Amino acid sequence: MRAFFIGRFQPYHLGHHEVLREIFSEVEEVVIGIGSAQESHTIENPFTAGERVMMVDRAVGELMAEVGERKVYIIPLEDVYRNSLWVSHVVSMTPYFNVVYSNNPLVIRLFREAGFEVRKTKLFNRVSYQGTEIRRRMICGERWEDLVPRPVVEVIEGIDGVKRLRDIAGTDV
Ligand code: ATP
Ligand code: MG
Repeated sequence: MRAFFIGRFQPYHLGHHEVLREIFSEVEEVVIGIGSAQESHTIENPFTAGERVMMVDRAVGELMAEVGERKVYIIPLEDVYRNSLWVSHVVSMTPYFNVVYSNNPLVIRLFREAGFEVRKTKLFNRVSYQGTEIRRRMICGERWEDLVPRPVVEVIEGIDGVKRLRDIAGTDV
């Protein structure tokens, strides 16, 4: 079995990590889609697709030390701005997968309409394990490092990501 899991991963956090751990307990291989891949340098999407690939790759590496070696494909996926065509777009850009894991209502509906098996996962500490909350903390100078896997902290520090987000959030007056 091969699973598909998509997120924007702005940034990849411990909620995503728990979802992946759950997926690995049920399925051998995973295709991870990096959504809105064309976006970067905005408050909602500060990191480039390449930077997000690095975050996911490093975090997955750490997880494999726990669950054993697995095959993982990390595929950046640009938006197509046409929901009715989105599943075909995803399928055309990814290795074949049999099951989709998501908690996002639109993603669930689009894949189910296309005939895919979709599994929901538990929500893990959704108050803090949430991209929006982590970006807010970065902008406000609050502690965010405990909400992401350690390798993700290193990637973000390596690109001076918090400074970037604060610059973007600033005004020109
Ligand atoms: P943002 O606030 O920027 O939207 P996010 O935390 O929702 O960030 P996404 O990249 O949008 O992160 O999430 C991708 C997928 O991961 C979604 O289907 C979402 O439901 C799921 N997910 C995110 N956080 C959690 C969590 N804490 N527990 C379980 N699933 C989660
Ligand atoms: Mg989200």
